Parts: sequence; structure tokens; C-alpha cells
Amino acid sequence: MKIIFRGTRGTSPSSGEGFVKYGGNTSCVEVKLRDMQLFFDAGTGISSYRVDEGESPVSNKYFIFLSHLHYDHIQGLPFFAPMFDGASEIHIYGSSSGGLSLQEAFEQFIRPPYHPLSRTNYPAKIAIHEIGPGEIINPGEHIQKGESEHSKREDCRIETFALQHPGGSLAYKLTDSETGKTFVYATDTEMPRGERKRALVDFVRAVNLLVVDSFFTDAEMRGELDGKDKRDWGHMSFEEAVELASLAEVEQLALFHHHNKRKDEELDRLQERARALFKASFCAYDNQLIEI
Ligand SMILES: [Zn+2]
Ligand SMILES: [Zn+2]
Repeated sequence: MKIIFRGTRGTSPSSGEGFVKYGGNTSCVEVKLRDMQLFFDAGTGISSYRVDEGESPVSNKYFIFLSHLHYDHIQGLPFFAPMFDGASEIHIYGSSSGGLSLQEAFEQFIRPPYHPLSRTNYPAKIAIHEIGPGEIINPGEHIQKGESEHSKREDCRIETFALQHPGGSLAYKLTDSETGKTFVYATDTEMPRGERKRALVDFVRAVNLLVVDSFFTDAEMRGELDGKDKRDWGHMSFEEAVELASLAEVEQLALFHHHNKRKDEELDRLQERARALFKASFCAYDNQLIEI
């Protein structure tokens, strides 16, 4: 499977000097699994996708899995090119939040006066699937394999897990049914404690690629730089992200959801420190392509 990091920032987009190497788009990771196109979160990074990048024969079908509905994870959705294509079928998965169903949240977010279009103005066919933690999803059930109506494809299995973040957030684990390769997308989250920490370690155990929140450093989290303790702000430090990867013995660790003010040089230094502790780690950058 091919992984394309379309946006690797957290909180808000960044640009200018110091944001060239790692980029400034907010969270979105695309997974190309043979002819399937899946996206984890729809931050500003998703707006870099072009419809003509798709591959036949199911290139008109797109699967978007939202961790949660904070702006940095949905802001690119109104500009996702397939939404403007009448041939597209877009399946959006995510949780209800803030007293709104996913459908209600979607309709409130994409409408005037916040945006010129509302959902019904988009030519694409959009299906909303409300999900929660502990579910197993087969996106292939929306793609037929053969003539029979009951023969649905099973390209992959996607499991969900509840993260620790204000308002909640979902982690996703994708397992390729053909090769058994695994990918976990886990942002935004604090490092849970006790039993919940053990459950998170189990969820990511030995995966081929772990993409995880590393918004703060331990020193920032303790408030050493600005006197503000950020331990319950719903994010991990990069030291905790490295610890999670080590405990779970993952194959590769992608440090992700970079602080919006963290410049290239600092990310380079963090990457070096991370590699000293866990060799197979890297700070993900916008438009990075890796294959697992
Ligand atoms: Zn975020
Ligand atoms: Zn968030």
C-alpha cells in the first residue's frame, strides 16, 4: 500500500520561511491500496488531491475517515476536488460529536455563510457513515466484486479505537486483506494511563506503520517554556510517541500533527533525537510518499 502524507500539521496551517521542508498543510494522510483510495482526515492537505490522480476501475469512489471534527481535520473537505465531480461517490466515516450527528455536523459546517456551497450544491454523491470506537469497517462493501449484488469486495479491514482528546477522537487501523500489512492513524490524543494505555499499545502492536500525534515536546507539555501546563490538552509529546512505538514494537514510526509553529530546523532536531531512541522513526512531511 502507498501512503501519501498530504498534510502533517496540527491546529492551523503554516507557511513562510521555516515551513518549506515539512510543509504547512493540516492533517490528511492518503492510502492507495491497489485501486482503492482512502483518506484519513480532511485537513487542508486533502485539497491538494487532483481527480485525474485516480486509478481505474473504482477511482470514482473515495473513502474518508475522520478522527474528529476539529477544524484542522476537516478544513480541506469543502475543497476536495472529487466533491465537484458528478461521477464521484464519497463515503465519509466519523463519530457524532458536540451533540450533533455526523450528518448534522457536516451540514452545518459546509453551508453559507461559512462557505458559498452547501452539501446539496455539490454534484458528487456523498454518503455519511456514523461510527464509534470498537467497530470493524469494510469499505469494499460499497464496491461490487462481480455480477451478484451480494458479492462485495474485501480489500481491507478497518478497526476503530477511542483516543483521549477533548470531545473524543478515533484512531483507525487498516489491515490489507491480501498482504496482511497494517497501518495505524492515531491523532489527536494524549498518552492515556493505566489500562487505557495498555489497550492503546495493544491496538498499535507490531503494525508496519504507526502515524501518531507528536504535537508537543515533554518540556512544552510541562510548561517549561511558557508556564502553561498542557498535560490535559489532548496531545502527545514526541517523547511519548516514541515510547508508544517502542512499547508496541512497531516497524516504522511517523511523527505527525506537528506544532503549527515548529520550524524545519527544530523538526530536524526532533527527528534526530527520536531516531536515537527509536531507529525507524521520521517526522512526516507534506507530499511524502512511502510504501509498506
Ligand atoms: Zn488536530
Ligand atoms: Zn483536535
